[in-house]
Amino acid sequence: MKARIGIDCGSTACKGVLLIEGTLAFSCIKPTGWNPKESARLVMEELLKNAELCREDVGVVATGYGRVGIDFSDRTVTEITCHALGAGYLLPDVRTVIDIGGQDSKVIAVKDSRVVSFQMNDKCAAGTGRFLEMSAHRMGVDVSEFSTFLKAEKSCSISSMCVVFADSEIISLMADGKTREEIAGGIVKAVASRAAALAARIEVCPKVLLTGGLSGLEGIRKSLENQLNIPIETSIYSQYAGAIGAALTKL
Ligand code: ADP
Repeated sequence: MKARIGIDCGSTACKGVLLIEGTLAFSCIKPTGWNPKESARLVMEELLKNAELCREDVGVVATGYGRVGIDFSDRTVTEITCHALGAGYLLPDVRTVIDIGGQDSKVIAVKDSRVVSFQMNDKCAAGTGRFLEMSAHRMGVDVSEFSTFLKAEKSCSISSMCVVFADSEIISLMADGKTREEIAGGIVKAVASRAAALAARIEVCPKVLLTGGLSGLEGIRKSLENQLNIPIETSIYSQYAGAIGAALTKL
């Protein structure tokens, strides 16, 4: 039995998958917290336990911003490469990957699961999960319940490109008596428009896969689809794209 573990240790969440003979068998996610190496170790141990395997039975490949500290892996690979590979597993013939993560966002042009070109925003929180988290906090809402406030027909406009100014804008909207639903709709559109602006810097070809922690928010997918005028797909394993790519990497 050929078993591989891929670990994508991101700024916010540490994701891991265990593939057996190239097929996704187990997945695990934990907060990255203050110690990426420790979170990655916990993810690996949980995957091994679930599969009833030992460390010696599997090859381990690490990716993500915390990968350098993961000294128990057999190999480390950049996250862009892993995202392209993982996206190809989730959506065969994918040509564009839009990844919206905890503290960065990236758009990758892909051919045959390999990177053709990419654009990345890792300088500014706008258009990332951090923006969503800060906005949700300002609204007194937990990120996990954010989606319950998304009603298609309601949304304000949040125009500030900077998270700090957008926060002030949200405070003003609340003072104006706008509902949480209207503000939540505006936040989602704002995140999607930042990602769409990034995507505009490369040629966006179908099929397009949305990945990263925010891919589970239907409002983001829909808003991106409207803004880019192209069908956008997602997968229940979209947040694991990088980890899947790591697990598929040759040792
Ligand atoms: P990273 O790789 O940078 O750690 P991820 O792609 O794992 O990031 O995404 C983490 C982000 O996804 C966090 O900002 C988190 O708040 C957000 N997130 C995860 N699940 C949800 C959800 N159900 N609704 C909204 N945001 C979510």
